[in-house]
Amino acid sequence: MDIAFPFYSYTRGIGVVDAYHTHPDCQIAQSIPAVERIVGQPKGWPECIFCQVHHAPRPLLPNRRPNTSIEEL
Ligand SMILES: [Zn+2]
Repeated sequence: MDIAFPFYSYTRGIGVVDAYHTHPDCQIAQSIPAVERIVGQPKGWPECIFCQVHHAPRPLLPNRRPNTSIEEL
């Protein structure tokens, strides 16, 4: 089944605030049944923060200290 993005829903799924969804991996978006999805971005609604996180590049992990080996731990 094709899923169109962005979409919004008055049922919110498992979300607690009104927001429109833009990313297929968003768990809130996935919780909204297809029949309750409305394609588009309603005026005044923010983009879902979880969708924004999925779109953002992953933060780099801090570098390990190069001289630390397992034997020293
Ligand atoms: Zn979302």
